[in-house]
Amino acid sequence: MGGFFGVVRKKSAILDVYLGTDYHSHLGTKRGGIAAYDSELGLQREIHNIENSPFRTKFERTLDEMKGNSAIGAISDTDPQPLLIYSKFGTYAISTVGVINNIKELIDKVLSYGGNSGAILQAMTGGKINSNELVAALINQKDDFVQGIKYAQSLVDGSVSILILNGDGSIICARDRLGRTPVLIGKSKDGYCVSFESFAYQKLGYSDEKELGPGEIVRLTEDELTVLSEPGEEMRICAFLWTYYGYSTSNYEGVNVEVMRTRNGAIMAEFDMANGDYKDIDYVGGVPDSGTPHAIGYANRSGIPFARPYIKYTPTWSRSFMPATQADRNKIAKMKLIPVHELIHGKNLLLVDDSIVRGTQIKETVDFLYSHGAKEVHMRSACPPIMYGCKYLNFSRATSDMELISRRTIVELEGEEGLKHLEEYSDPNTERGKAMRKAICDKFKFKSLEFQSVEGAIKAIGIDKCKLCTYCWNGKE
Ligand code: SF4
Repeated sequence: MGGFFGVVRKKSAILDVYLGTDYHSHLGTKRGGIAAYDSELGLQREIHNIENSPFRTKFERTLDEMKGNSAIGAISDTDPQPLLIYSKFGTYAISTVGVINNIKELIDKVLSYGGNSGAILQAMTGGKINSNELVAALINQKDDFVQGIKYAQSLVDGSVSILILNGDGSIICARDRLGRTPVLIGKSKDGYCVSFESFAYQKLGYSDEKELGPGEIVRLTEDELTVLSEPGEEMRICAFLWTYYGYSTSNYEGVNVEVMRTRNGAIMAEFDMANGDYKDIDYVGGVPDSGTPHAIGYANRSGIPFARPYIKYTPTWSRSFMPATQADRNKIAKMKLIPVHELIHGKNLLLVDDSIVRGTQIKETVDFLYSHGAKEVHMRSACPPIMYGCKYLNFSRATSDMELISRRTIVELEGEEGLKHLEEYSDPNTERGKAMRKAICDKFKFKSLEFQSVEGAIKAIGIDKCKLCTYCWNGKE
């Protein structure tokens, strides 16, 4: 994934962008960057590797070194950004969120622009092209930013939201054509900001100004927000924002993530209560962090006490701490989980996770609970079985289709033929659905397993299903 944050105001924008971008750290762990514009210094830019230490630590010096009343920042799981681009539109900084699946086709388009133009693109180590540079090269093929952004978005197979810090200090932002990810605008008495996460600017003293619609393009100066291109009708915002990777305190399309998650847990509890599959459970717990509000909703609705049978020790293990070897990473993951013996030993536990993708992590957690004396561990997934890898976002959980535990189990049960019946497997009331759940239970030693249904997740989000992307659950484009 990735996220961005930008500010244009009457005073220095650097501290706000430093703090606002840092609030997007849950969206990426690889690269962080800030670009700023100052009327004397022009555009400045800094990018750091944030794999081993957090964004905030890496950019402390930036607060003294960079100057400017407008700036943008980015957190990325892939390409370094923001990039500085020298073009016919002047020099500007660009940052993007999304994924480009047809990168080769677009590179060819850029390199062959205007016939045999001799155009070049900078290659990164390993020969890969930075997707931000590719988007900029497509934008530059048109007569102005608006035409260029629309052109680039129309060609991208995947999704792309774009943030540009212009050489005149203004900011141009464009939400993805189908609004897969959010772009929100905040306002203060000194200017405007643009953000992926709404809580990031609220904490910095900006109030909600507007959420861009799909494909909408706006320009921000310290005094003015100008709509450069009106939003489109069609939207497919990612449903996973609410179930898993959006931050609990954020709102997207007016729906708060934490509130959605507790509502989602309550709907799962209602299903279990109707199906008689929830009795004799001592405690409901959530897999931290995003599983917790789903579990609170389940506990509140079912009346089963909520408890934390294990707690993550986070004060000294930062999320981005990544030892070099897998063995050391596994050891660190285990060091973080501290059991509460009184809440585990001899107890029947129902654990709610935000999703079950490959199953590796949840297997380790369940083994950990049994090793500390749990009698039974029931598992609930706060989202439906993941049947398709995501093709719209650079989403770290969406790996190759056959890594998905649901698909792997289906193929184990009846070979490739099973892949023709994914809908049936999703449904807990069909023989195939029951067989998949039982096979996963056997594999991971769950006493029982259930998933939220697609309808249940849509109901918990509470916006029109036509506006939501649920592709990874039901394959609907
Ligand atoms: S496929 Fe899944 S993860 Fe990807 S945008 Fe759609 S709902 Fe989100």
